[in-house]
Amino acid sequence: MKLIEVKKIIKTYYNGDIETPVLKGIDFSIKKGEFVAIMGRSGAGKSTLLYQIGLLDVPTSGEIIINGKDVSKFTEKERTNFRLKELGYVFQDYALLPDLTAVENVLLPIIMQGIDKKKAHEMAAEALATVGMADKLNNLPSQLSGGEQQRVSVARAVAHKPDILFADEPTANLDNKSSDLVMDLFQELNKAGQTIVMVTHENRYGKFGDRIVTIDDGKII
Ligand code: ADP
Repeated sequence: MKLIEVKKIIKTYYNGDIETPVLKGIDFSIKKGEFVAIMGRSGAGKSTLLYQIGLLDVPTSGEIIINGKDVSKFTEKERTNFRLKELGYVFQDYALLPDLTAVENVLLPIIMQGIDKKKAHEMAAEALATVGMADKLNNLPSQLSGGEQQRVSVARAVAHKPDILFADEPTANLDNKSSDLVMDLFQELNKAGQTIVMVTHENRYGKFGDRIVTIDDGKII
């Protein structure tokens, strides 16, 4: 079953008089339960593509269908709700809130969905246990290593059991050992049925996916 269908996506950035065409007609689809790595050289448009599919940006034209819904036609409010409930994100810089503990970082987006605080805390603690962080629930990000912060961010991304996990260069700031741990986590999540779409420029990590989609100069090759 197709979970994501990307049809004729074009993305051009406009800054004043300067037009930067980045995605030049992208078509592909992702099945439920697949682990797809988006690869290509720096500047090829990988992150831009991930941001369009992940509803973090709006394409200039084209359609994105997720679970049969044309999400490219969503209003801003529908996009926000859909992101909170159905999608999860891991970024290369972890993007944790520095003044919140690990468990607070994970439970915040769950509470924003309208789930009560006690249930949200249970879900957050369970997700942190899954990533091996059960003993550091109350640590601030500054009291965690880079690898541990990324594991917290993976817990935050999956605690609400999203349809799709998006990851943008999740290993870019990590040493090999921590990177391998994060990739092992992704594989475990994927084995349990999680659909994953990951951008990476590192062959060694792209191979963890079921399929590699290579993009060059804004097109799939
Ligand atoms: P990749 O992830 O493959 O390294 P990106 O998707 O980040 O590539 O960027 C693709 C191209 O789009 C680059 O040339 C980049 O400079 C350009 N770009 C990205 N964001 C913007 C923006 N907001 N405005 C203008 N150009 C941008």
